[in-house]
Amino acid sequence: MAGVKKELRDKGAVVGASSCVRDRERVSSSSAAKEGRQRQPAKQHDVVVKANGAQQTAQSSCQSLDASLEEEVKAFLINEDELHTYDDLTKVSPVTPSTVLKCLQARYSAKVFYTHAGCTLVALNPFQPIPHLYSLDVMKEYHCAPQPQEFKPHIFIVAEEAYRNVQGQVEPTNQSLVVSGESGAGKTWTSRCLMKYYATIAAPSSSQKCQDTVERIERRVLDSNPIMEAFGNASTLRNNNSSRFGKYIQLQLDRSQLLVGASVQTYLLEKTRVAFQAANERNFHIFYQMMKGATEEQRLEWKMQCDRQFNWLPNADKTLEEDCFQETKHALEHLGIDVDVQGQIFRILAGLLNLGNVIFCPSDDESQPCKLKEQSRGFLQNTADLLGVPSEELEACLRLRSLRAGKQSVVLKPCSQAECSVRRDCLAKLIYAHVFDWLVACINKSMCADTSRWCNFIGLLDVYGFECFTSNNLEQLCINYANEKLQQHFVAHYLKAQQEDYVSEGLAWSFIQYQDNQSCLDLIEGSPAGVFSLLNEECRLNRPSDAKQFRMRLEKELSSNACVSWDKFSRQPDFTVLHYAGKVSYQIEGMMEKNKDPVPPELVHLLQQSQDSLLQSFFTEHSTEDSSGRGPSKVVTVVSKFKNSLESLMKILHSTTPHYTRCIKPNPDCRPLTFKKEEVINQLEACGIVETINISAAGFPIRIPYLCFLQRYGLIVNSKMFHRSRGENGLDVDKDTLLREVTRILNAVLRRHSLDPCGDAGGRTRSSMVHCGRTKVFMTHSMLELLEGQRDRER
Ligand code: ADP
Ligand code: MG
Repeated sequence: MAGVKKELRDKGAVVGASSCVRDRERVSSSSAAKEGRQRQPAKQHDVVVKANGAQQTAQSSCQSLDASLEEEVKAFLINEDELHTYDDLTKVSPVTPSTVLKCLQARYSAKVFYTHAGCTLVALNPFQPIPHLYSLDVMKEYHCAPQPQEFKPHIFIVAEEAYRNVQGQVEPTNQSLVVSGESGAGKTWTSRCLMKYYATIAAPSSSQKCQDTVERIERRVLDSNPIMEAFGNASTLRNNNSSRFGKYIQLQLDRSQLLVGASVQTYLLEKTRVAFQAANERNFHIFYQMMKGATEEQRLEWKMQCDRQFNWLPNADKTLEEDCFQETKHALEHLGIDVDVQGQIFRILAGLLNLGNVIFCPSDDESQPCKLKEQSRGFLQNTADLLGVPSEELEACLRLRSLRAGKQSVVLKPCSQAECSVRRDCLAKLIYAHVFDWLVACINKSMCADTSRWCNFIGLLDVYGFECFTSNNLEQLCINYANEKLQQHFVAHYLKAQQEDYVSEGLAWSFIQYQDNQSCLDLIEGSPAGVFSLLNEECRLNRPSDAKQFRMRLEKELSSNACVSWDKFSRQPDFTVLHYAGKVSYQIEGMMEKNKDPVPPELVHLLQQSQDSLLQSFFTEHSTEDSSGRGPSKVVTVVSKFKNSLESLMKILHSTTPHYTRCIKPNPDCRPLTFKKEEVINQLEACGIVETINISAAGFPIRIPYLCFLQRYGLIVNSKMFHRSRGENGLDVDKDTLLREVTRILNAVLRRHSLDPCGDAGGRTRSSMVHCGRTKVFMTHSMLELLEGQRDRER
């Protein structure tokens, strides 16, 4: 069947659910409307069919073609053994999670890691370097091919398609490559691979490299990776190089399609990790890199002697390939961060490590406030030295809270042991987040081209995938909300593309079924009644948070939404959201505090006075919050910030042509070439891949121009027109006559299978399996199979 479809494609038909924008553009712009599904480069056929179906110049080679198709039609019928050759999942029939799974498994065993799923690309992680797959030669092959889609599915097809789309035939359009998948699935790897591709193919040739800046930009773009990974990635249970932030990189291209700059936007850095690492996980790579890569002299300066045990540096003994301090330092230097400034950053980070060893304990006399553990005194002093602040003031900030008493006076209230630890962690998180943001700003300054120099961009989105743990809180709610937004964007964009084709062909639109996740989005982002709004309202009230009370409020306000449910018997107050990718229960306890993410103003004041110019500069603009405890303070909550940044991202995505890649992690232990069905099926469900395929295959994915249809199936009714259409002189009939003949063929086949024949609705011939548009016959895969079967019998 692959070949049947190929033949049809060659004649200007759109076949396969991948009949999205890509296909439409190709059909309308080129007579060689070949899809990239065949295993060898396509054979050229001398059949040219004008898309309006009224005329043709056909030097028919149908007979020889038919012979070559026989084989492939047979292959389709015995599809079990051939599953690994299905390079588009929409060809799997029927489309169910288990058939899709089987196909992917067969391909994985055959070491084929990429598969189209209609308009998306599925990437299975090999967990093993496959050097030949990404070599320079392969890049060039895809880049130089007249039709890269003809090659095996590959991330470079997506890359190249986006690159060619940027030029646009009518007007240039910006592109976005959206890479999703769960932790360890290969998003960042894919993203890096895409950056390398563009840094290679969009770089000026050596003869063009006259401008110094142009020459260096590819290097800088690539250098941003080790920096962001050193400061933003960590080893977790699920991925030993897990990105703890989301990012969107825009690669800026000039009029000649050359890479002239880039900018990066980051989302939701998991700053908690600096002060808390779950069992068997690690802190951000940079701390280990420093520990491992520092010279003796630096160790002394940073007070990071090897014999010290740092609480915030767990699992330091594990050797990881990410421990590459030299590479990070070189990358920083390339980006224009000189050795002195690097020294400042490392001192600050060393200060944080020392801060992690500052421990408080209850006083012997219970009436007295808690005190500093004796062994911690040295670490407190080290921290103060490294951060450039007086140690007494640092201690006071951690142990005493200032409260305003009356109009003028301020009283200092000792904090409990737990409160002191919270303040210490808060200080670390605050500083680390600023270091990270500052680095991102430096990266942008160094990579970003002047607006006059670039005119288009290709955006790469690498965000965290859908998350569902045993315990989920605000972080997961934000992450899953982002995924809902992306899913909505995917559905809207893709269906819109389909709709345009249907509308232009005069077909009704309502027959496409898909899951709309708007009500889940309303539940989360709705205003005034939505989880985020209610959470913000609660946080602004500035009263001690009460999870049970908040849970009651949520239930009262949101009960009409079908996407939320309440477990009356759960021990912890929670609520369950029915996401498109599955149900997730969110714990309410701690959610308000996380949303407020309060920063004690004393800490900010302390850092504003730091002797370290870099650290001090982070806080010059920082507005301190009202600590009086009275009246609502103007706190910008975590969800407000996140929602705003996501909204700007969605705006950008909406203005671009998106391309989707879904990365799949074939086993939980990151073992090479190991395919665990259970693991994969969960991800297929979570990323809605079956639904994606169904959307792709929904409606009438196969579109064949009338004349082409007649040439292939006319023999079913022994049509005179069929014989003429295949003859030397071709066919010259009007559209209505053609339509009548096509309808006759369709009805003959439908009746033979006791199916309802085509009716005439609003001047259009249609049944549940086939619709006739203005110039093309739109049909389902099943209809195509019936036609093919009948055609075989008639021959
Ligand atoms: P994610 O960003 O989705 O959490 P990563 O991109 O960090 O996951 O991938 C996890 C690991 O899987 C990588 O460190 C790498 O070892 C491996 N990996 C991912 N994609 C590939 C690939 N295409 N080829 C070889 N190894 C890969
Ligand atoms: Mg990642």
